Amino acid sequence: MFDVHKIREDFPILNQQVYGKPLVYFDNAATSQKPHVVIDSISDYYQKINANIHRGVHKLSQVSTDAYEQSREKIRSHINAKHAYEVLFTSGTTMGVNLVASGFTTLLKKGDEVIVSALEHHSNIVPWQMLCERTGAVLKVIPMNESGELKLDEFDGLLSDKTKIVTVNHISNALGTVNPIKYIIDKAHSFGAAVFIDGAQAVPHLVPDVRALDCDFYAFSGHKMCGPTGSGILYGKEEWLEKLPPYQGGGEMIKEVTFEKTTYAGLPHKFEAGTPNIEAGIVLGTAVDYLNSIGFENIQAQEKKLLDYGTSELLKIDGIKIVGTAKEKTSVISFNIDGIHPYDAGTIIDKMAIAVRTGHHCAQPIMQFFDIPGTIRASFAFYNTTEEIDRLIEAVIKAKTMLS
Ligand SMILES: *Cc1c(COP(=O)(O)O)cnc(C)c1O
Repeated sequence: MFDVHKIREDFPILNQQVYGKPLVYFDNAATSQKPHVVIDSISDYYQKINANIHRGVHKLSQVSTDAYEQSREKIRSHINAKHAYEVLFTSGTTMGVNLVASGFTTLLKKGDEVIVSALEHHSNIVPWQMLCERTGAVLKVIPMNESGELKLDEFDGLLSDKTKIVTVNHISNALGTVNPIKYIIDKAHSFGAAVFIDGAQAVPHLVPDVRALDCDFYAFSGHKMCGPTGSGILYGKEEWLEKLPPYQGGGEMIKEVTFEKTTYAGLPHKFEAGTPNIEAGIVLGTAVDYLNSIGFENIQAQEKKLLDYGTSELLKIDGIKIVGTAKEKTSVISFNIDGIHPYDAGTIIDKMAIAVRTGHHCAQPIMQFFDIPGTIRASFAFYNTTEEIDRLIEAVIKAKTMLS
């Protein structure tokens, strides 16, 4: 049985006071908190098995290499990739996007097209703009409607044989919209384009099946799914990873180096230059185990309860406008209070010991679309409670009273 109060005991950070009041942590879309098992595994790594991987023949190096490769295999199985070598360790989603956007430099020519969506995080916009600047390719944008849903008929109209890659997020960090990525993937493939999915906001809430989705790339960060910062995954289909050149040169990614010519290592090492964040890679596997032990059905049920409760309670307050009302939504509520700047409201909410995010959420084009300076964003995790939402409602009412 899912007992949220029991689960909260796994997260030591939640049990603290801020400004003399119990902390309410509603900034999970920025980063999640970490359970004991994750925190302890980091310490365990350094106390017991720290050694550089894939290098020494000595015992400790073999043990840490095995732990690293077991974590890769665990993540392969979790996302149902065909081969472990299609699962690359990265420092996070941002690196995954940059690795692929950089690699596509050799594959694009002037006049080719790259499609992004109106709902993207800056890290899934800027690397593609830089790619377009380097190659002369043209960036096209799938527009959205007032609910924060992508306009699929307009997407269909953007596709042509000039389209080389389509890149969208699975779930929007700013609005919580769950995008119809299977439709987007299949449609893009029918024009021969590759598809990159930014899964940063999806993996804390669901298990992506990369083979069923048939995406060409799928990137995510460990720190938003109860794992350590500096850990991340880029899944890429073997045929694409073979086509892309290495991202960084250095140790580990080579087969043979002479001053005349270097030959590169095979997958995944070709993309894993230098000493990685070893303990973060290993402990990401621990975080995946932890989430699976809670169960994604339980996670989704709790988060749906929080989303529904939070939405209906907020809407009882006069002058609240929720930004992002897609039919398919995850547990993110972006909102504004009529006539009040989100930053001012956020300051008062913070003083009530409630951590929400205010601002543009690294998605300025979304704010431009709605013609607002930003939003207040409450993003819930499975360890949050409806009592905490009551605290938020109280704080919003207080902010409204004080500022209007
Ligand atoms: C957080 C986030 C990113 C960037 O992730 P980093 O961990 O900062 O690299 C990209 N896209 C989305 C949708 C995000 O939520």
